[in-house]
Amino acid sequence: MTISMFRVFIFLIVLTLSVLLLGVTTSLIIGLLTYIFILGLWVIYQSFQQQRFLAWLKKSSYATIPNGYGIWKLIYSSAQSLAKEAELQESKLKNNLAAFRRATEAMEDGILVIDNNNYIVAVTPRAERYLNIRQEQDFGSNILNHVRHPSFAEYLLSGQLNKTIIIEDLNLEKKSLEFKLLPFDATQKIILCRDVTKLRQLEVEKKDFVASASHELKTPLTVITGYLETLSEIEINKIEKNRMLAEMLIQTKRMDELINDLLLLSKLEKSDPIKNKRRTNISLLVHELSKLSARIDKDQHSISFDIENNVFVSGTEDNLRSAFWNLINNAIIYTEKGGKIKVSCLNSDEGKAVFAVRDNGPGIEAHHIDKLTERFYRVDSAGSRESRGTGLGLSIVNEIVQKYGASLKIESQPNIGSKFSIIFPPIFTDD
Ligand code: ADP
Repeated sequence: MTISMFRVFIFLIVLTLSVLLLGVTTSLIIGLLTYIFILGLWVIYQSFQQQRFLAWLKKSSYATIPNGYGIWKLIYSSAQSLAKEAELQESKLKNNLAAFRRATEAMEDGILVIDNNNYIVAVTPRAERYLNIRQEQDFGSNILNHVRHPSFAEYLLSGQLNKTIIIEDLNLEKKSLEFKLLPFDATQKIILCRDVTKLRQLEVEKKDFVASASHELKTPLTVITGYLETLSEIEINKIEKNRMLAEMLIQTKRMDELINDLLLLSKLEKSDPIKNKRRTNISLLVHELSKLSARIDKDQHSISFDIENNVFVSGTEDNLRSAFWNLINNAIIYTEKGGKIKVSCLNSDEGKAVFAVRDNGPGIEAHHIDKLTERFYRVDSAGSRESRGTGLGLSIVNEIVQKYGASLKIESQPNIGSKFSIIFPPIFTDD
């Protein structure tokens, strides 16, 4: 017997004995009426407390506890501590759920739980974004309404677990998504989805790159093979033979240049950004290049240099010389004889080092400008000379400047000229 039942039992015994005593000392009727009256009051009190208890249970807040006597005091305090415990558990659960959502948000993969009829049961924020699912509206809807692609429907209906499928150009954003179906339990399945748009683009770029590089190497090789065949098959005079040998030498140098540029590009791609605390005085570097350009140009153009003393950039010299020379050399190559080229190396008002090459050459049409830093991109213009470069120069410059956190700015107007500027970020300070 519990304490509460024992109390009720004692109450009834005390009540019965007191009323019996009253009945014996007064009259039986008075005793009986008193007994019924007290019992009635007790029953009313009990049902009143029951109503209060129910009303209290229905309330969302358990902060205030109603008053009660005897067994009700005990019931209220026990119920309150139970309710508090439940509230605590609920808030813990909410926190855990929020932490779980944050964790799944940080994951590269989106996760979806679907039932055996392909209806959405749960979805992480990232999957919501990938598949354009809105929590409130789309829960319980069929996943096939969100990924509208015949290959996806076929894949899902085949139920092949652990197999992946890539769906390209999905939804309005034209994303490529990779899906993987995983087992979960007897009634549900998990779908992992990952955005592979960039990866696919890289794969395409890689294939294009290999095709372009092979093509670029094939052209000089074809020329060399042709001359070699001619030389081995036909008797030709010395002058013609020398001409062929000279042409073969040009083509061999072209292949050598191309391979060197490809190796440099691959080295640059693998190297980390330059973040050391060393500084390079690019004024000295540009001074050296002014001498080199005079030797190479042989007075074909009027080249002027405006070099401020002590223009520093953060980082070691590394490939900076190569980047600067590429821009000067392009100006020399693409500007007609007698044209003007101005090279400057200055500190801007915002404390940025700026290296710039300006020419009054043929200029470049606006629609080419964004593509100039793509590998093997060349502008096919009537004005451009026969002695073509590898088409890798500006992509190498772009790759180098990015290592310094700098940017390459290209401004050009057809028939007026071009300006290529490298703008470095302000120099690191030692504090
Ligand atoms: P390339 O090895 O062909 O010079 P780049 O990447 O250095 O390759 O340049 C890409 C293209 O940009 C060139 O083919 C040329 O058409 C154009 N270009 C570069 N610099 C100049 C310039 N100073 N004036 C006009 N056109 C230029």
